Amino acid sequence: MKRWMMVIALVLFARAGLSYEPGEVVNADCNKKQELKADCSKFSGGGRAKNVIVFIGDGMGLNAIYSARVYRNGPKDLLELEKMRRQTLVKTCSLSGVTDSAASATALATGTKTYNGRIGTGPDDKDLADIVGLAKQTGRSIGLVTTDMVVGATPSSFSLHQGDRFTFGTLAEEYLAVKPDLLFGGGKEWFEKKSGSADLLEQAKKQGYLVVEDAKQLDSVSSLPVLGLFSEEEMTYELDRKADSPEPHIGQMTQKALDLLSQDPDGFFLMVEGARIDHASHKGDFNRMLEEVIALDQAVKIAKDWQAKNPETLILITSDHETGGMKVVPADDKKGDKVGYKYTTKLLPGIPALHSGQKVALFGQGPGSEGVEKADDNTQVFCVMQRALGVEGGGK
Ligand SMILES: [Zn+2]
Repeated sequence: MKRWMMVIALVLFARAGLSYEPGEVVNADCNKKQELKADCSKFSGGGRAKNVIVFIGDGMGLNAIYSARVYRNGPKDLLELEKMRRQTLVKTCSLSGVTDSAASATALATGTKTYNGRIGTGPDDKDLADIVGLAKQTGRSIGLVTTDMVVGATPSSFSLHQGDRFTFGTLAEEYLAVKPDLLFGGGKEWFEKKSGSADLLEQAKKQGYLVVEDAKQLDSVSSLPVLGLFSEEEMTYELDRKADSPEPHIGQMTQKALDLLSQDPDGFFLMVEGARIDHASHKGDFNRMLEEVIALDQAVKIAKDWQAKNPETLILITSDHETGGMKVVPADDKKGDKVGYKYTTKLLPGIPALHSGQKVALFGQGPGSEGVEKADDNTQVFCVMQRALGVEGGGK
């Protein structure tokens, strides 16, 4: 295809939403020098939002979305997340090249690129001002929800500051210093008393947190602050859950987060991560990946229904990176089919798929979502959120 044809195709593609044909994925060159910090000046117009909700599908590339759409709805009937009013594609590269979840979530939450493995800290090891801290300064309540351990890279990078994403015990301690109003996910083992470590669950209770450990307890929560730790490590894959599983689904966690956070008259900031899309993709486990995307889409539906009654709310949906360099093999697929696909990043023995440089989707709807279509890099998602929250120029 000639270059100008490609440009027109891309513009049409961006305008028409993601009802694209498989194979239209765009690879960013992550070996190129990356812009360190987002220039937020072009995001100065646009509306303000009382509440901001950002969904992150970890490892959820365009073809993961397409595969889930075909399986659930058929090739033409879009998922809830694809029906968002505004959409574009963004680069996810980090200063290390192809990003990991820590550097990418740091970029989303702070507007600054960093090296892989870093949690809310820049390449110079300094703490970066994050969107959670900025939202907190305006009196908004803060919620972080994940199906990963809460000390996993994505939720951690939104509010914590460490040089190494794998210092889980330290990250757990830092949460009790940062004090998000609501924290839901797995990773209870990092809060429990072990030899030589503090009992962080007891400490959280002393700080006023209600600590809940299963879906039934979650149901009965009616006030903040709340710490929900529903599994020792990551939460169980949707496909592996029995009907009587005590773990809440991502949709249930999202609904409860909205019920609780909306009690704050100043508004709220909520991040919800569908983490296990990435975990399944690394294993080349297509079936589990599909169910995780569909569960995230159900959580998006819950937020969209809530937004319909609370229109002063911005919803954004993106991915921290694509996993697998997934390519769909075009075929005459219909609803219920599992599309043909191949991973193009097979590089390491025993790990079928790695992160890729494919651009990922950014969807938005609500006040402040005007900025979505101006963005072409993950750092600019920070600009969109900052503008919507009215916290430009703030920070430490
Ligand atoms: Zn990964």
